[in-house]
Amino acid sequence: MKFVSEITALQKFLQTLRKSEQKLGFVPTMGALHDGHLELVRAASRENDRVLVSIFVNPRQFNSTVDLAQYPRQIEIDMEILGREFPDVIVFSPSVDEMYPQNFNIPKYNLNGLDEFMEGAFRPGHFQGVAAIIDRFFSIVGACRAYFGEKDYQQLCIIMHVAKSLNHPVEVKSVPTLREIDGLAMSSRNIRLNPEQRKSAPRIYQGLKKFSKEVFYVGYDVARENFRKYVESDDTLELEYLILADSETLKPIVTPLKERGVRVFTSVFAGSVRLIDNIPL
Ligand code: AMP
Repeated sequence: MKFVSEITALQKFLQTLRKSEQKLGFVPTMGALHDGHLELVRAASRENDRVLVSIFVNPRQFNSTVDLAQYPRQIEIDMEILGREFPDVIVFSPSVDEMYPQNFNIPKYNLNGLDEFMEGAFRPGHFQGVAAIIDRFFSIVGACRAYFGEKDYQQLCIIMHVAKSLNHPVEVKSVPTLREIDGLAMSSRNIRLNPEQRKSAPRIYQGLKKFSKEVFYVGYDVARENFRKYVESDDTLELEYLILADSETLKPIVTPLKERGVRVFTSVFAGSVRLIDNIPL
C-alpha cells in the first residue's frame, strides 16, 4: 500500500506505472469509507492493473459550513479498511492547499443544464465545486478509468460531461448503488443517524420502489403524495424533494413512459442528516 499526499510525488509514481504500461483505475472519494466505496474499488481492481483511491473532503462542494465541519474524517481507519482488501492500492490524500493553492484559478463550468434540478437546485454551487475538483483530479492523474457510484447519479452524469467536454483522457465508469440488507443506500452520512433514524431510513428506498410501480397507474401527483405520506408517517423523516427525470438530460418529467429512460430522485431529512437516493423506473 502506498500513501501520497503531494501532487508531484503522485505524478512521479504514476509515470513509473505508465512506463511499464500498467492500466490505472481511479476512485475519487471523500473518505469515511464503507462497502459502497469498496464496490468501486473492486470494479477498478478487476478492470485495471493498479488502483488509485483519493481521499479528499472537497470544501468547494459544500454549501453549508456546518455540513462541511460535520463531515466524518477518519483517514487512519480508511487506510486500514483499504489495506485489508487491497494491499496494492495507492492512496492519495492531499491537503486543501495542495489542491487549491493561492491564486489557483477556478473557471465557471458549463454543465449543460445537468445541474439545474434536484441536487443542483437544492444545493446551489454544489456541482460547480464537484466540477472543479474533478477537473483538478483528472488533470493531475491523467489517463485512467475513473469509477463513480449511481448513488450520486446526477453527479455521475455531470462528471461524464466534464470529462468529455474538457477532453480529459479518462473513461468514466458507473457502479450500481450498494445497499444495506434493509435497502438503505450506503453512505458516509449514515453513521450520523441515531438508532431511531437508522431504523426509519429504509423507508426511503421502500418508498421509491412503491412509487416506481404506482406512478404508471395513478400518475405522478398521486404517487408523489403517497411517497410523501409513506415517508413522513414516520416522524423522524421529512421529504425535501421527489423528482422524476430523464436519465440522460436530467430534465424533470411528469408523465413517464415505460420505454423511455427515467429515474426517480429523492432527498429526505432524517433529523439534520440529509439522505439522497435514486432508482430507475
Ligand atoms: P463520496 O465519498 O460520498 O464522495 O463518494 C465517493 C464515490 O462513492 C462516489 O462516486 C459515490 O457515488 C460512490 N458511492 C457512495 N455511496 C455509494 C453506494 N452506496 N454504492 C455505490 N457507490 C457509492
